[in-house]
Amino acid sequence: MWKDLEISVCKCESDKLRDKPDQDNLGFGVHFTDHMFLMKWDRENGWHDAEICPYKNFNMDPAAMVFHYGQAIFEGLKAYKDEDEQIYLFRPEDNLERMNSSALRMCMPRIPVDKVLKGLKALVYLDRDWIPSGEGATLYIRPTMIAVEPALGVRPAGEYYFFIIMSPVGAYYPEGFSPTKIWVTDKYVRAVKGGVGHVKTAGNYAASIMAAEEAHKAGYTQVLWLDACERKYIEEVGTSNIFFKIGDELITPPLGGSILGGITRDSVIQLAKSWGVDVVERRITIDEVIAANEDGRLQEAFGTGTAAVISPVGELCYQEKKYVVGDGSTGELSQRLFDELQAIQKGTQDDPFRWIVRIG
Ligand SMILES: *Cc1c(COP(=O)(O)O)cnc(C)c1O
Repeated sequence: MWKDLEISVCKCESDKLRDKPDQDNLGFGVHFTDHMFLMKWDRENGWHDAEICPYKNFNMDPAAMVFHYGQAIFEGLKAYKDEDEQIYLFRPEDNLERMNSSALRMCMPRIPVDKVLKGLKALVYLDRDWIPSGEGATLYIRPTMIAVEPALGVRPAGEYYFFIIMSPVGAYYPEGFSPTKIWVTDKYVRAVKGGVGHVKTAGNYAASIMAAEEAHKAGYTQVLWLDACERKYIEEVGTSNIFFKIGDELITPPLGGSILGGITRDSVIQLAKSWGVDVVERRITIDEVIAANEDGRLQEAFGTGTAAVISPVGELCYQEKKYVVGDGSTGELSQRLFDELQAIQKGTQDDPFRWIVRIG
């Protein structure tokens, strides 16, 4: 049935186009473009009614299953524009394939990756004037799937919407690339093996808010999560993966079922390996990190994710003690990875791994 999935395009009338936001104050995820992609699924017809249409509200039954049982999954990727107005996406197929892994775990229907990628490219091209051109600014793209069947009872829904919305976002580091302060929690946990921590489903983020609120109150930017069983192995930081440069090794926790397999994580692993860095995926405890920090072997720590790309860690707070990482400033490897990945994403650098997809 996917073979017949035509995508219809209904352009926004020119007098209904939105005013573009102030390019110097974009924030993150507060403005949305003129158009969206939408398609619907039900058991009888599979995916159908695929369209690119003006950005619009949904009219949903209060019994729509997503409101009650949380079958909701999403993705996050970005479109970039270089000085010549050439548009690029970064590894978009990986995001759509990951959405299908999430769909499988959440008993939701798979999306046809080729068709959706076509729709995504057409949507980005149609709203290309929304891609900001300021330094570090990008168009953030949010593919999402929700259960819309109106029914109570815990079971897989029989009707879904898949949609893509897009938001121009400002530079993640408007004042320059600077280290963050991280709050290590041994009070809350994010995910457990056998659960859903390895997929991008909405409930994971709802469950994480309280820990983040406590971290913010204490003056920290993000939460570092430990494993749910022993509360000693490092898992992730906020909604990013984490890396530690200890001695000559770049260490990151392995994808053991409770960690989200980030596309930025994978890109950092490939890039660092290609530079001859000794990248090791292994379990690492918070005690090992602190011991390495005390004896000066911990040189750098950084988070990786689509939003910030690389986010250097300047300070850790664990069990009420503060630890400054390295000299508290951005490490050499963190900076190099950030510069290189940004340059590849913006098309200003060779792309040896064939990560970028041109549009238009
Ligand atoms: C999205 C996400 C990441 C980062 O993934 P990227 O593909 O690099 O953006 C890491 N951890 C969690 C929990 C996430 O939701």
